[in-house]
Amino acid sequence: MVQVDLHLHTTRSDGRLSPTELIGLLADRDLRVVAITDHDSTEGLAEALEAADKCSQLDIIPGIELSTDIPGNEIHILGYFIDYSDIGFQKILGEFRDGRVERAREMVGKLAVLGVPVDWDRVLELADGGSVGRPHIAQSMVEKGYIRYPQEAFAKYIGRNGPAYAERSKLTPAEAIGLITGIGGLPVLAHPREVDNVESMLPDLKAAGLIGMEVYYGTYPSSHVEALEAIASREGLIPCGGSDYHALGTPDEAQPGFVGPPLEIAQTLYAMAGKQSELIM
Ligand code: AMP
Ligand code: ZN
Ligand code: FE
Ligand code: FE
Repeated sequence: MVQVDLHLHTTRSDGRLSPTELIGLLADRDLRVVAITDHDSTEGLAEALEAADKCSQLDIIPGIELSTDIPGNEIHILGYFIDYSDIGFQKILGEFRDGRVERAREMVGKLAVLGVPVDWDRVLELADGGSVGRPHIAQSMVEKGYIRYPQEAFAKYIGRNGPAYAERSKLTPAEAIGLITGIGGLPVLAHPREVDNVESMLPDLKAAGLIGMEVYYGTYPSSHVEALEAIASREGLIPCGGSDYHALGTPDEAQPGFVGPPLEIAQTLYAMAGKQSELIM
C-alpha cells in the first residue's frame, strides 16, 4: 500500500464520490497525503478539508486539473498548493466550466444525429452542479443501454477522434502552467503516456514552469513507471502520481492506496511550496 495519492476526483467534477465520501475512503485506506484535483473546479476543497479535519491522519493538498489543447491531442496539467481563494483564478475556472456546458450540449446534439440520443437534462443531473464532462455523457449512454461501460462511449463516440466529439477551450499547456504558478501553485504534467511524443514537449513545458510529471499513475504497468522514472530523473522533474480515482466502479479502475509516489516526494512538494505538513515532516 502507498501513503500518497496526488490525483483524485469528486462529484465537483466527474468523480462519483462526494468530497466527504472520498475522504472517508482515503482515511480507511490509511493514506497520509492526498491532493484533490477536480477538473476546472476547487469547489470540493472546503468540504474535503472539513472532512479531513475529523481524521487527524490525513493531509490535503489543494489541487486542480486543467485540460489544455495541443494539435491533435490534449494535455492535462495538475496544480498543487494553489491559492484557490484568488478571485481572478476563480473567474477563469467559472468560464472554463461554462465552456464545458456548451461543449457537452454540442456532443449530446451530435449523439442524437448519430442515432444514440441521451437526455440533456439527465447529463446535467449527473454532473450535479459540478464541472460537466464527457464521463457524464458516457454514464447517460450506459443508462440508456447503448453501452455497458463508460469506456465504450469514448472508444465509439466521444473520444478525441470520435464522431460525437466536440472541442473545448483553447488553453495551451503553457497558459495552464502560468495560471497555476500565478497563484503560487506547483504545475505537474498528468498521465504523460496519454500524449504522443511527450518527451519532445518537456523542454518547453519546463521553460513555462513545469516542476514535475506523473510517474506512479493509475494503471500504468511497472514497465511504464520505470521508463517514466528515467525520463523524470533525466529532465529534473519531480516524479509524482496517483490513482486518478473517479469511483466509476469499472473492473480495471485504479484504487487509492494502491498507486502513488513515495512519501519523500510529498515532502519535497511541501518544501517547494513553502508549506508545512504536520504529519509527514
Ligand atoms: P472531459 O473533461 O470532458 O474532456 O473528459 C475527460 C475525462 O474523461 C477524463 O478526465 C477521464 O475522467 C475520462 N476519460 C477520458 N478518456 C476516457 C476513456 N477512454 N474511458 C473512460 N473515461 C475516460
Ligand atoms: Zn476526470
Ligand atoms: Fe486527466
Ligand atoms: Fe484526472
